[in-house]
Amino acid sequence: MRRMVARPGNRHQARLLRLLRDEGPRSRAELTDAVDLSKSKVADELDRLVELGLVEGGGLAASRGGRRSPIVRIARHVHFVGIDIGATSVDVAVFDGELALLGHLAEPADVRDGPERVLDLALEMVAELRKQGLAPEVHGAGVGVPGPVSFRDGAPFAPPIMPGWNKYPVREALSQVLGCPVLVDNDVNIMALGEHHAGLAKQVDDFLFVKIGTGIGCGIFVEGRVHRGVTGSAGDIGHIAVEDDGPTCACGNTGCLEALFSGPALARDATTAATAGQSAFLARRLDEAGALTAFDVADAAAAGDQAAIAMVRDGGRRVGKVLAGLVSILNPGLIVIGGGVSRVGHALLAEIRGVVYRQSLPLATGNLPIVVSELGDQAGVTGAARMISDHVFQAE
Ligand SMILES: [Zn+2]
Repeated sequence: MRRMVARPGNRHQARLLRLLRDEGPRSRAELTDAVDLSKSKVADELDRLVELGLVEGGGLAASRGGRRSPIVRIARHVHFVGIDIGATSVDVAVFDGELALLGHLAEPADVRDGPERVLDLALEMVAELRKQGLAPEVHGAGVGVPGPVSFRDGAPFAPPIMPGWNKYPVREALSQVLGCPVLVDNDVNIMALGEHHAGLAKQVDDFLFVKIGTGIGCGIFVEGRVHRGVTGSAGDIGHIAVEDDGPTCACGNTGCLEALFSGPALARDATTAATAGQSAFLARRLDEAGALTAFDVADAAAAGDQAAIAMVRDGGRRVGKVLAGLVSILNPGLIVIGGGVSRVGHALLAEIRGVVYRQSLPLATGNLPIVVSELGDQAGVTGAARMISDHVFQAE
């Protein structure tokens, strides 16, 4: 059921579409002012976009003296889908052509169940949103997965925590069912893009987005774009060695940052502390619940439990050391911390800030806020939709 999705015919049309996406409905006169093209050229390009079904009329603007200029907007039938596949959950959301969120579903899922089951679930969630009348037509879908992605191939590449996904053609599989263009990227990159589009990194062109969850990764924004590197693995900081030895990581090495500090690592250390008699708080929780998670460590730290506070500080120090190195290399203007473990609380943020500010040069940290994301679960789906809309609103 693959069919053609209309795309702009040249870069002027692409620019007009992105303006209308980001700024909302505008009069033809305002658009002419914004793009520095002649009035007749803008009129021609807009007429063509109306013919393509990407733009539609929206009444008349208030008079600026003389004739009232007709308003245009992204056509109401244009919709984008954002899919954020995490290690333990799938989020799917539908957006209109201006990237306003229309509907959002989240389901628990285990990425280790493999691509067929997880992608089937994601497609069922898209179908559910469409059944609610939210996206009769889909013009593109963006997808994030929790591992390294060959962006060119639209497929995961040797992902440590995604058995069965290596080189699985995620882009082709979804594109065939949805009948629209699909792009696939690492989940951290799409979260960074979401922060840039609608979060704390709006208006910041050089920043780092650090996700601390089941794994640890970093989305790197340089000059307003995701920096993916030659093969798409830039920012994979979870596997930087921060100790000479330590627990074996999912990637097979030892001493990796994410083997020492991530959701599962915190749960493991909390269980050890509870059973070794180092934390009465965690021992009680373990007794009650039968297992511990990173959130028990957060609760324990908030209650003043010394063992839990030490775990959070050690983790923050290790993350901070890696970030201090990145700050020296990239000189970002902002660092946003996200992912489930970022909710561990202030002790983590304080430790990361302390290490980064101490270990980087003053010129690099003089104006470097380090903050916790406010978008939460919306960062990924928003970034995924933004990624595919950039692609669709681009001249072929
Ligand atoms: Zn590793």
